Amino acid sequence: MGLFRLLFWVAVIFAAIWIWRRYIRGPKRPSRATSGEEASPMVRCAHCGVHVPQHQALELDQRWYCSRQHLEQGPQTGDR
Ligand SMILES: [Zn+2]
Repeated sequence: MGLFRLLFWVAVIFAAIWIWRRYIRGPKRPSRATSGEEASPMVRCAHCGVHVPQHQALELDQRWYCSRQHLEQGPQTGDR
């Protein structure tokens, strides 16, 4: 009966490890907040003035631009 008891305890230990790993990973819910564009603040393009999410905008000299083209053209100063 010694072998049976050994297998029993091995099974118990494996089950405990499985439950423990489930417990560690369990509370992590798939967060839907990552897809929210609301989390990204809106910034204003210094060239054309359009508002774009910050993760889409390009930064240069603490100014934000909606696209690389506007970044290269620089901020709109008003002199034409
Ligand atoms: Zn722009």
